[in-house]
Amino acid sequence: MILTTCAYCGVGCGIRAEVTGERSVTIRGDTGHPANRGRLCSKGAHLGETVGLEGRLLHPMIGERRASWDEALDLAAERMRATIAEHGPDSVAFYVSGQLLTEDYYVANKLMKGFVGSGNIDTNSRLCMASAVAAHNRAFGEDVVPCSYEDLDAADLILLVGSNTAWCHPLVWQRIEAARARRGTRLVVIDPRRTETAEQADLHVPVAPDGDVALFNALLAEMRDRGLIDHAFLRARCDVPEGFWDALPAPGALPDRFAALADLVAAHPRMVTLFSQGANQSRSGTDKGNAIINLHLALGRINAPGMGPFSITGQPNAMGGREVGGLANTLACHLGFSPAERADVALFWNAPNICAGPGLKAVDLFRAVHAGRVKFLWVMATNPAVSMPDAGFVREALARCETLVVSDVIADSDTARLAQIRLPALAWGEKDGTVTNSERRISRQRALFPPPGEALADWAILCRFAARMGWGKAFAFDRPAAVFREYAAMTALAPRHGKRLDLSALAGLSDAEYQALAPFIWGGAHPFAGGFSHADGRARLVPVAAPAAAPVDAAFPLRLNTGRYRDQWHTMTRTGLSPTLSQHRREALLDVHPADAVRHGLTDGGLARVSTAAGSAVFRVSCHDGQRPGDLFVPMHWSDAMAGEARANLLPLAECDPISGQPGFKNTPARVEAVSPEWRAFLVCREAAALPPLLYWSRSRVPGGWLYELAGNGEVAVDALVPAGQRLEAADHVRGMRRVVVRGADGSLDAALFATRSGTLPPRDWVAWQLGRPADSRELLAGRPAGPQPDRGPILCVCHGVGTNEVRAAACAEGASIEAIGTATRAGTNCGSCRPLIARLLAEATEPMKEAAA
Ligand code: SF4
Repeated sequence: MILTTCAYCGVGCGIRAEVTGERSVTIRGDTGHPANRGRLCSKGAHLGETVGLEGRLLHPMIGERRASWDEALDLAAERMRATIAEHGPDSVAFYVSGQLLTEDYYVANKLMKGFVGSGNIDTNSRLCMASAVAAHNRAFGEDVVPCSYEDLDAADLILLVGSNTAWCHPLVWQRIEAARARRGTRLVVIDPRRTETAEQADLHVPVAPDGDVALFNALLAEMRDRGLIDHAFLRARCDVPEGFWDALPAPGALPDRFAALADLVAAHPRMVTLFSQGANQSRSGTDKGNAIINLHLALGRINAPGMGPFSITGQPNAMGGREVGGLANTLACHLGFSPAERADVALFWNAPNICAGPGLKAVDLFRAVHAGRVKFLWVMATNPAVSMPDAGFVREALARCETLVVSDVIADSDTARLAQIRLPALAWGEKDGTVTNSERRISRQRALFPPPGEALADWAILCRFAARMGWGKAFAFDRPAAVFREYAAMTALAPRHGKRLDLSALAGLSDAEYQALAPFIWGGAHPFAGGFSHADGRARLVPVAAPAAAPVDAAFPLRLNTGRYRDQWHTMTRTGLSPTLSQHRREALLDVHPADAVRHGLTDGGLARVSTAAGSAVFRVSCHDGQRPGDLFVPMHWSDAMAGEARANLLPLAECDPISGQPGFKNTPARVEAVSPEWRAFLVCREAAALPPLLYWSRSRVPGGWLYELAGNGEVAVDALVPAGQRLEAADHVRGMRRVVVRGADGSLDAALFATRSGTLPPRDWVAWQLGRPADSRELLAGRPAGPQPDRGPILCVCHGVGTNEVRAAACAEGASIEAIGTATRAGTNCGSCRPLIARLLAEATEPMKEAAA
C-alpha cells in the first residue's frame, strides 16, 4: 500500500494505492488524509484507468527521430546558449504547469531566475488563480490563503462565487454537503449559470457576467447601512483609504434575491466566501478578489474558525508553484524583486545572474514568442496550444518559435507536435515529490511504478540540462528529498521580509523522514491571526470599481463563458483515456437558453458554430434553461486530438486583468449559428480511426475501443471510415440510412458504422459494448439486441454504471430520497459526484406529487 495524492484538482485528496500489476493499481481514498478523509470523486477514483502507457513519450526525440538524452540535452543547451549570447537572457523562457511537483518547480525557477538571469518563467496557473494571488498581495501583503477546509466545517454560511464546486472541487462539495446536513450551514451560489451546484443552494444569485464587483460593493454598502461594519477590527488591523466608503454605491431598492443574500450575510457572522475560476478568469479578476476580501475585512470575518475569504485552486500543485516562485512576478518563496530580496536570493543560490525584475506573464509571453522576441521556449507538462485563450494565435506563436522544447508525458499533444525537441517526463504514479493544496497543506506524491522507457523526473531533466549550461554545482541534486531540503532552507528568507511562508524547520529532513512525510498545513489554520504581511502588519481595504460591461453588438450579440466538466480534466490527455469517465459527457456541448436557441435557429442535439473575434468552433447544442438568456457556455477540454473543431479556447480573446495578467475566459462577445450537415453517423472501432475531412467529428473512449460521432455533407465515405475486414452492410435509400459492420478473423466486432440522412441512430452504448465480442450479424446491423432490453438512459453514476432512467424510476418510488435511491440502484454511493444530478431528478419526480398534494 502506497500513500500518495490525487493527480487532479487543488483539493489535494489523499490516495491509498495498491499496485496490482506491472501497470495496474487499485485506488482508494486515504482515510488518514485530512483533505478527503477517505473519499474520492469520480476522477480520483478512476485514476487507475489512466496509468497505462498508451500515447506516452518514452524516449527523447529530435524532430521525428529518436535521440539519446545526451544528444537531446546537448542540442537544447547549445540552442539556449546561442540564443542568450545573441539576444540576451530575456529571449529565453520556461512555460510550466501546476502539474509539476514542488521540487520540479523549485529547480525550474532557480535555473531561470538565478542562472539564466531572466524572470521569464510563468505557469499555466496564471490562467487559474493569478487574480486571487494579486488580490491576496494587495490586501494581506502576501499570497496566503487565510482559511482551511476546517473553516467550511465550522461555517454557518458559505458563499460560492464563480465556482461549480460539485463538479470542479467535488470533495470540497462533499464537505459542504456534510456541514449542511450536520449543522444546517446555509449555502448561496453566486454564478451566472444555474449549475448543479447552484441547484442545490438555499439561494442562487444569477449575477451578470463580471457583475461580482458591483454585487460585493453593494453588499458591503448594505452591511454598512445595517450597522454591521466591525470598526474595532478595522481600527486595530486594517488600513482604510480615504474616500473608500464614499465610493460605495448609495442605498436603493433591493432586488429580491439581493435582499435575501444581504439578510443571510447579515445574520451569519461565521461566513466563508469560497471563490474560484469564475471569479479569477476575468479582466477584473483581481478586483473581484479584493471586493470579496473587503467584505470579510470590513465585517471582521477572518482569522477565526468558520470564516474567511477562501480562494481554491484548480490544479494539484498550483499552490506549490506559487510558493516556490513559479509565477513570473514572484522571485522565489513569496519574495519580490526589491534590491534586498534579490540580494538575499542571489546569496542563497550563489546565483551568478539573478534576474533584474519580473518576467513575462503567460499571455505576454506567447505574444513575445509570436513577435520573435522570445526565441527559445521550454514548455513543461502543459498544452498551451489548447489551453491558452486565443489558442490559434498561440499555436501560430509556437510554430514560429526558433527553438521549442517540450518535456511532457504525452508524445503528440497539440503543443508537442510543434516542438523540435521532446523530452520524456514522468507521469503521475511515477513521480516522487510534494504538492500543496488549496488550504496550504503539503502532501507527498509518491511513485507507484518504475519510470517507463527513458522518462525522467522534470527536476532531474533540468539538473542535467543545467550541468550542460555550466551550472552543475548548483544543480547537483540527486533525489527529490535533496531539492526539498534546499527549498525548505530557502524559505527562511521569507520571514526576514515579513512573510508568513516558512518551512525552514524541515530543512534538515532525512531521506527517510521525507519519504514518510505526513500531510501538514503550513502557517496553521489562520496564518494572519497575529498580523498581516504588509510592513506595518495591517491589511488593506482596496477600493474597487465595477467594470464597464463588455460590449456586445450585432456582430457578436451573445456572451460566451467557458468552463469544466465533472469527469474531465484540462485537455483530456489523462481523463480522456478512461472509458468510465468518458461516459459523463461524450461530446463538448454548447449550453444555450431555449429562447436563444429558437432565436438563432438551433435545435437541441443539433450542431452549432460559435464565433468570436478570435476564432470559431463547432459544438453539439444542449438547450438548458439554467443558462441566462444571452449567455452561452462551452467546456474547455476538447483538443484537436479529441474532436475536429471543438477547441473552446480558440474563442476567448487574450484580454487580461491588468494587475494579475490573468486572461478573461468567461465573458467573450460571441455569435452562434446552426450547422446543418446532410448526414449524421457514429462509428465504434477497436483502433483509433484515421478520418477523412469531415464537417464534424468528436471521439470518446469506450471499453475496448473508441466511439466517434460524425457528421458531413455529400456521400458517406464508408471505405475511408471503417477498417478492412469481413464486412456486412445494410442500406435504406429512402431514409438515407447505411449500416456497416466489420468483423475480425475470429468473428468478433472490429468496427460498426451507422449513418443516416433523416432517421434516428441506434443507442451507442449497446453497439460499443459489442466491440471485440462475437455478436449476431442481424442484431449488429439492427444496432440493438433481438429481444427487448430496458432503456437505462445515459449513464448517470459512472462508478456503478447506473442509467438516468433507472434513477428516475427509483426517484418515483414512495419515500424516495437520495439515500433511498442509492440503496435501490447504488447510484451516488461511491464517489458521490453524481449526487447533485440525482437530487435534480428527485426534485423533478417529487415536484408534481407535491403539487398534486397541495
Ligand atoms: Fe482528485 Fe477529486 Fe479529490 Fe480533486 S476532489 S483531488 S479530482 S479526488
